[in-house]
Amino acid sequence: MILLLSLCSCAEKAIEVDLLIINGTVYDGRTAMPEGTSVAIKKDKIVYIGQKSPAQFKALKTIDALGLIVAPGFIDPHTHSDRELVEPGQAHNQPFLFQGITTVVVGNDGSSFFPASKFVAQYESQGIGTNVALLAGHGTIRQQVMGKSDRKATPTEIVEMQKLVQEEMDAGAIGISTGLFYAPGSYASTQEVIELAKTASKNNGIYDTHLRDESSYTVGLIPAIEEVIEIGKQAELPVHISHIKCLGVDVWHQSDTIVSLIEKARKSGIQLTANQYPYDASATGLKAAVVPRWAESGGKDSLFIRYNDQQQKAAILEETKQNIVRRGGPDKLLIVKADDSLIVGKTLLEVSALYKLTPQESVYKILESGYVRIASFNMNKKDIHNFMQQSWVVTGSDGNTGHPRKYGSFPRKYYKYVQQDSIIDILFFINNSTSRTAEIFKIRNRGRLVEGYYADVIVFDPKIFRDKADYTDAFQYSEGLKYSIINGYVSIDKGVYNNKLNGTVLVRKKM
Ligand SMILES: [Zn+2]
Repeated sequence: MILLLSLCSCAEKAIEVDLLIINGTVYDGRTAMPEGTSVAIKKDKIVYIGQKSPAQFKALKTIDALGLIVAPGFIDPHTHSDRELVEPGQAHNQPFLFQGITTVVVGNDGSSFFPASKFVAQYESQGIGTNVALLAGHGTIRQQVMGKSDRKATPTEIVEMQKLVQEEMDAGAIGISTGLFYAPGSYASTQEVIELAKTASKNNGIYDTHLRDESSYTVGLIPAIEEVIEIGKQAELPVHISHIKCLGVDVWHQSDTIVSLIEKARKSGIQLTANQYPYDASATGLKAAVVPRWAESGGKDSLFIRYNDQQQKAAILEETKQNIVRRGGPDKLLIVKADDSLIVGKTLLEVSALYKLTPQESVYKILESGYVRIASFNMNKKDIHNFMQQSWVVTGSDGNTGHPRKYGSFPRKYYKYVQQDSIIDILFFINNSTSRTAEIFKIRNRGRLVEGYYADVIVFDPKIFRDKADYTDAFQYSEGLKYSIINGYVSIDKGVYNNKLNGTVLVRKKM
């Protein structure tokens, strides 16, 4: 009998694969797999996951993942990598790669590269380090049709914008995004957004939004969420709230109310979900954070014409002061990016001492120099935890320059919220960074380790996987990622990036 068995296994032909991952603790994106699970890859696909012994394979390369975690590559639903992915030398997307991210979404917050077709072609011909999926930005499209004007769209303009949404969807966009807090998105009515979302809906697209108000600036946080629900209902498409948060003391502890509001909408059939980055500071432009929208209408020059008009100046300064208070005060606003290196790393309070001006006056002296980014410490722990624990909240980085979240979001969520504070467990963390995100964004055949799926796989060391970037040095790669495999090809090998551009554009039609 023994002889017979061994004869059989000899006779069984070894399965030829390109890559075999053995001995790891495997999470497939839905469940924890039993011990001894191997993952085999051939070309760009996963061809096997299960209990076969390594001896049954003939692999060109074998990764021994003993003591390591094997998971689907993370999917980041909110980034600002649009430009970097076309920049020579930055297309590698390394800040994201080292977090274990294998797919990024771009075109968020209502702002996208236009026309999408041009950038899809450019990404494809130049090569990219991670996969990318594109959203068509409502603000971008609005600007094409209406410029920066602060008014409602006419019916003809809405039709023009719908045509452009259609073009972007035809070029491969997976849906539309809005930035209703920012100009020019903030000038749009809910109805305008619904009409454009209907075009996305017809194309099986999704709606992703930066809420009209995450705080108490205009309509308020809860009415802003009600607006998303209305859009989902009227346009009949899945709606997704980016970087969900309670921004500022005025709205702290509203997360319970928001969670029940969203649960109710979900029960009524609206596919409403959200993403969140694991930090208590947000990041944005100084102008967007504290300058009244009416004052900046028309652009920077118009802003300073109004500011230099004595009567309007008083009103601008008063509202700016209120906006600073809303965000917790001038000591809670940290300059992270500016042309003047003297003020980078200083709070607005420190800068105002330097300038010998009030904080609100300092804002305009700072803005004269150009675009300035800030980190704004305005979130409450209870709300962060509450949102994080919801099944419909996935991990996102909103990665942009100057905030550590661009380099650290996913490992930080693992290190701080899974390992240290036990707010969520590892399975929840992995599922809500992989398969859940793929489902929400309709990214097909990715986000899970399943036979026939594309081989986006990561291997990390659970003992050392963590973020390194912080507010004093936001540009440090995360550590602990041992392997990153994108579309079946190794990008990070034994913790070292090999400079290969293994990413592809996840165009809607191809998905
Ligand atoms: Zn945003």
